[in-house]
Amino acid sequence: MSHDPNCLFCKIIAGQIPSRQVYEDDELFAFHDIHPWAPVHFLLVPKRHIASMAHLADADAGLMGRLMVLAPRLAIEQGCKPYPEGGFRIVANTGAEGGQEVHHLHVHVMGGPRPWARG
Ligand code: AMP
Ligand code: ZN
Repeated sequence: MSHDPNCLFCKIIAGQIPSRQVYEDDELFAFHDIHPWAPVHFLLVPKRHIASMAHLADADAGLMGRLMVLAPRLAIEQGCKPYPEGGFRIVANTGAEGGQEVHHLHVHVMGGPRPWARG
């Protein structure tokens, strides 16, 4: 299934629920987290509905590679200072024990001056 009508992030990607968009191309989408933990905190997601990192197949390697290569560029664009003084944190909560609440694969990209609200 490429779009799950019951999925919050699929609805955000489709524009059915508003978000503060950071980036969009034909396969990736990024938007600000509604409850940021850090001065910069956005979510980067594949547009296709993939429930979690645990659902990835070998065929998704290119997609996830592009997602990971995009993350540093967006982090800088969103105000993270460059490595090594600045930088950012990437988190991909997966499953109940991994703390995943929204079951559409997403990576949190967090950065900016400390202290942060969490983490
Ligand atoms: P996770 O625990 O990794 O599944 O995190 C899901 C994240 O989605 C949380 O950090 C929420 O603050 C964020 N979130 C939930 N609803 C929205 C929304 N409508 N727009 C933006 N971020 C959201
Ligand atoms: Zn989805």
